[in-house]
Amino acid sequence: MSADILADHMSAWIGLIAASLVIAAFMLGMYFRERRRRMILSEELDRVSTQRSVPLERDKLTGLLTRSGFDAALDKRIKSVEDSGEAFCILYVALDNFGLLNDAFGQAICDRLLKEVSQRLTTCIGPKDDASHMAAGEFALIAGGDMAIGRATANRVTDILTEPFKLESIQTQLSCSIGIASYPEHGSCTKLLGHAAMAMRSVKLNGGSGFCQYDFKMEAEVREQALLVNDLRNALALGQFELYFQPKIDAISLQVTAAEALLRWNHPELGIVNPVVFIPLAERYGLIGSIGNWVIEEACRKAARWRQRGLRMRVAVNISGCQMREDDLVDRIEAALLRNGIQPGRFTCEITESVAMEDTKVTQLTFDKMRKAGFHVSIDDFGTGYSSLAVLRRLPAAELKIDHAFVCDLEESEDARLIVKSIINMATALNLRVVAEGVETVGQCELLVSMGCNELQGFLFSAPISADELERLALDDHRPNDVEFRQSLFSETLHNELPEDLRPFPSGFDSQV
Ligand code: C2E
Ligand code: MG
Ligand code: MG
Repeated sequence: MSADILADHMSAWIGLIAASLVIAAFMLGMYFRERRRRMILSEELDRVSTQRSVPLERDKLTGLLTRSGFDAALDKRIKSVEDSGEAFCILYVALDNFGLLNDAFGQAICDRLLKEVSQRLTTCIGPKDDASHMAAGEFALIAGGDMAIGRATANRVTDILTEPFKLESIQTQLSCSIGIASYPEHGSCTKLLGHAAMAMRSVKLNGGSGFCQYDFKMEAEVREQALLVNDLRNALALGQFELYFQPKIDAISLQVTAAEALLRWNHPELGIVNPVVFIPLAERYGLIGSIGNWVIEEACRKAARWRQRGLRMRVAVNISGCQMREDDLVDRIEAALLRNGIQPGRFTCEITESVAMEDTKVTQLTFDKMRKAGFHVSIDDFGTGYSSLAVLRRLPAAELKIDHAFVCDLEESEDARLIVKSIINMATALNLRVVAEGVETVGQCELLVSMGCNELQGFLFSAPISADELERLALDDHRPNDVEFRQSLFSETLHNELPEDLRPFPSGFDSQV
């Protein structure tokens, strides 16, 4: 065979092999394409059949979705909006003080309450939307639409839960805290619910009863708060707390009747941290018990020192709702009083109106013990809560403190004057003394005295000051801000100088001081 013929054969073979390779590659490509198409098809079939065959898991009590049912519904919703491009919101709804309702009404009534809440919630969302019962008293809603729709839904939920609930003989109203996060603006599927819950917690931290939309800044705030809580855990051991005192002044004699202990936290980097910032954190993170005990002991120690110097005024301590639920609170106060030789009637417990009106079994038990122990009980921030006269009559209170919010409007607002006047009338009828807090001007002071207010407290007389300053002020008979203080302002007739029948407590007690 000649060389030319051999070369022709070779190129024919090479051409054949190349053509076969192209065909094989094409076939392989077709094969893989078909395989991928089948896989996608079968995944889609699986998804559709799963959605069809397995109903979303529901909560037996309320009939709403469970937590895992909610996750599946959220997953489904996200897949559907990926196609349609629609937005939706998650609303995290937490009933305010649900634990207290449980204490007050018992589990059976609260279960019925949860059922009715669930029914009402479902009327606030559309037919394609979902509602879930996440935990006791906490719900999550998926509502189609943007943030404006989310806010409108939150308003509907707030309104519908404020309508009274009637369960057997009990009638109650609820308030709730709502956090809203919208998709896709506020995060992926896994983060969305957490962000709505974070927004809800920020409402709670600000006193509850309202709604707020998630903001990316919240995460930084939460981190900052976590650092503050960390510092707060060590603040007591590091001696960073200090009690300041603000005098309460008798409206007629202008004598100091008591000094309210107000806690200050001397933070090494932040300076003085206000109690409105750290008390709610201490309550939330279970630190209020030990901090509260320190406050009680320290207030008694200071009162004992004042008594040694002849200054005999009542000492008032703010008691938080969490402390009212501690079953040995009264025993601990009694022990501190005994250690420092203070009469129970010289110790005032200031309890805010909202806590006093909780009317739960535990709080009422503490009030009963306080009555038996003979403490002086004061209802703080009066006018800001929803008092019932029936509850007020049952409390062992001796004093009402009109909230600063009404006092500061007194000179300008006829409404504020009417409210203050009616509080004073009601208190007089119930034989309670009335203290006005936050008195800043002479005009407010004159109006309050003319209305029959018994005691005054505020910057007009003195800001909260250290125990030493208060002592100096008292001993020097100092006259801050031009208010006339009488001579021997803080002293009081010695117990033993009083006739026997006028002595408020048994003989011999004073000698312990
Ligand atoms: P509160 O018991 O109603 O105390 C009155 C608040 O009003 C105090 O704020 C006081 O400094 C302030 N104040 C007094 N006079 C005036 C005034 O003329 N004008 C204005 N604008 N404000 C005035 P503070 O000391 O920041 O305490 C805030 C709240 O923190 C207290 O309200 C009380 O609820 C709570 N708190 C303070 N110390 C303690 C504590 O030891 N334990 C507990 N559980 N709560 C505390
Ligand atoms: Mg107070
Ligand atoms: Mg107050």
